[in-house]
Amino acid sequence: AYHLMRVMRAWPGEEVIVFDGSGAEWLATVTRLERSTVELRLLDRREVDRELPFELTLMVALPKGDRQRWLAEKAVELGVSGLVPLATERGVAQPVEKALARLRRTVIEASKQCGRNRLMSIAAPLAAAEAFSAPRVDGALRALLDPSGRQSLQALLAAGGAGKPRSICFAIGPEGGFSGDELRLAASNQWPVVHLGPRILRVETAALCAAAGAQMLGCDSLCSGPEGLAETPSIK
Ligand code: SAM
Repeated sequence: AYHLMRVMRAWPGEEVIVFDGSGAEWLATVTRLERSTVELRLLDRREVDRELPFELTLMVALPKGDRQRWLAEKAVELGVSGLVPLATERGVAQPVEKALARLRRTVIEASKQCGRNRLMSIAAPLAAAEAFSAPRVDGALRALLDPSGRQSLQALLAAGGAGKPRSICFAIGPEGGFSGDELRLAASNQWPVVHLGPRILRVETAALCAAAGAQMLGCDSLCSGPEGLAETPSIK
């Protein structure tokens, strides 16, 4: 209501688009505006898919504060389906429930801005040891990002992307990097270790660089068709 009244300055009779976070959006008209309430009449329900053709998960040893919020915002824009805070040996403190709630609000704001109708999930923190011992499921492409990787992420995506993966998952370490034990555990459980070039990127840059690389695989289906980006509503 606040966004509609104070930011978008909507008036009775105006058409807006509202969404429910699970894939649908509605054309609606504003019927009544009060101090903190806006009443809408829902007109036309549409299933509009602006998602990537695969699940994209980022498991990240989250940076602190604003860099964490920025990472979540940009991950939504790039089509990431789920963000999993990774608890690593060298990680800084894990986000508490209050911080996770803040991130979920960021997800809603970013979805409104970029026209996504499905909310990126923010999972509870997961221990790296648990993440790296999980078996790979069929049709899943996954990689651990580390400057020591022998293969580039680009090469992995070029080889694995052709098989049209159902899901892609990247693990990104903390400022201090993954520990030797974590790297060994991941490698012994078929997590390819890939690099992003010769420079050391900050956590959020590495995570978004990987997400951008993956979303290029799904870009054709994202940008084509009558319900692609050209249809993104101006008021949402
Ligand atoms: N001190 C660590 C080291 O030298 O390995 C660097 C950690 S970096 C700031 C944080 C995380 O971003 C890394 O754990 C890795 O997941 C990812 N990262 C940063 N630069 C990378 C690169 N060039 N290639 C692959 N991953 C990278």
